Amino acid sequence: MNESKTGSEQEDLMKTKKLARLIVKQKKMIFDQWECLVCGFCCTRFRFGMKGDDLERWDGLIVDSNIGRYPLRDFVNFDSHVYSKMGDLFFHPETKEWLFPCPFLGEQDGKHPCLIHDSRIKPNVCKDWHSTLIDLRCRATRQIVKRKFGLKFKDEDEEYQYFKQLNVHVQQFQHEQLFGLSLKILLDLCKNPEILQDKSSR
Ligand code: SF4
Ligand code: SF4
Repeated sequence: MNESKTGSEQEDLMKTKKLARLIVKQKKMIFDQWECLVCGFCCTRFRFGMKGDDLERWDGLIVDSNIGRYPLRDFVNFDSHVYSKMGDLFFHPETKEWLFPCPFLGEQDGKHPCLIHDSRIKPNVCKDWHSTLIDLRCRATRQIVKRKFGLKFKDEDEEYQYFKQLNVHVQQFQHEQLFGLSLKILLDLCKNPEILQDKSSR
């Protein structure tokens, strides 16, 4: 009995991996069709932190938020700098309590726009979401994949759980693909080091 259960689990895993590979192969189509639904799902589910030049860009900026108007840098808890980096943005400027969901998640006509959407202000992690990798936790991406592969679910919770599992394999394949690409570039460079010289002499 156990053996047959293991067999069917194996079969499900194979199917999931196969679908994940097909999705990664359809990357371009997904990126071409992708358009944010401004649903705010990602902003209310995922923790995020500072990245790259966030702090420098926020210097001197005063912004509106759901809890009032404050300098943007005051939403970072410098006593908890490591946590701000690791995924605990944002904090209350006065009480320093961690704010979740994000205090910049707006509400307008049934949608949830970002109050600091301007690319000069928005956190890098939010700007980068979807720029290079497919992430099946996003509602817009799920809609495209559901349409393309004829997937149906009884409700969003069932759908989300299914895509969350599938996403693990999609991420793995994408990283393998990126690793393969970097390796190829490195090998090309080793074989043709003059490529680098050509670029630097321009
Ligand atoms: S979950 Fe996707 S569609 Fe919804 S707001 Fe986030 S990026 Fe946009
Ligand atoms: S900063 Fe904007 S995009 Fe990022 S989590 Fe907050 S509301 Fe969402």
